[in-house]
Amino acid sequence: MAELKVNVTNLVKNYGSNHVLKGIDFKVANNEVVVLIGPSGSGKSTLLRCLNKLEEPTSGTIVIDGQDISDPKTDIDKARENIGMVFQHFNLFNNLSVSKNITLAPVELGKMSEEEAEKQARNLLETVGLEDKFDAMPASLSGGQKQRVAIARALAMKPDIMLFDEPTSALDPEMVGDVLNVMKKLAKEGMTMVVVTHEMGFAKEVADRVVFMADGNVVEEGTPEEVFDHPQNERTKSFLEKVI
Ligand code: ADP
Ligand code: MG
Repeated sequence: MAELKVNVTNLVKNYGSNHVLKGIDFKVANNEVVVLIGPSGSGKSTLLRCLNKLEEPTSGTIVIDGQDISDPKTDIDKARENIGMVFQHFNLFNNLSVSKNITLAPVELGKMSEEEAEKQARNLLETVGLEDKFDAMPASLSGGQKQRVAIARALAMKPDIMLFDEPTSALDPEMVGDVLNVMKKLAKEGMTMVVVTHEMGFAKEVADRVVFMADGNVVEEGTPEEVFDHPQNERTKSFLEKVI
């Protein structure tokens, strides 16, 4: 039982001559909610994607739940099962019903029977406020509903950490609140979460820690009060002036 859920040390990611992550140290404790903020292009998505090896780090170590995921001996598929990821653009399977979207992975991976998975899907849809959408097709849903299905789908694997990459950035403003409320509920239930977002109200209310990245580095981090009310770094200050 590792006390740290995520322990990233000196993570470097280069795309050719583009140095995107320049030696990031990033830790997340069990049950902690970390909100990652920073200008576009600062490397936030790349960092998240390295955490479940959607991107291969150039160098550095990433330990999740005590497992070094850069170690070739680590079964990355197994490790990924415990990491839920929610993207800006939902990425639902549009040819499958809502329930199938949610039951697919746990059934295919032999985690549970079809029947158990369906029962779980009903519970998860209730959690995200969409219990009436079990048989619906994704095309009939609003963006906010699709994103809540995407969250339910990620939760179906019973992950012990959830990564969110700008989950509300593609939504109409009136949909944002419903998605953030689901995320707040998860945080309250003790889910370990890393959330990239521009929703500073959410960050202030829900984050245990806010990490500000710029230009491939962690520039500043602290409690929401420290970072939002008393930013120390000039880049943090100028970023916050633009977004708040
Ligand atoms: P953020 O999420 O903070 O906006 P990203 O992590 O998406 O930043 O991108 C950081 C930098 O990495 C940008 O300069 C971007 O162009 C570059 N980048 C991201 N993904 C790739 C890729 N697959 N190939 C080449 N460059 C990439
Ligand atoms: Mg991004």
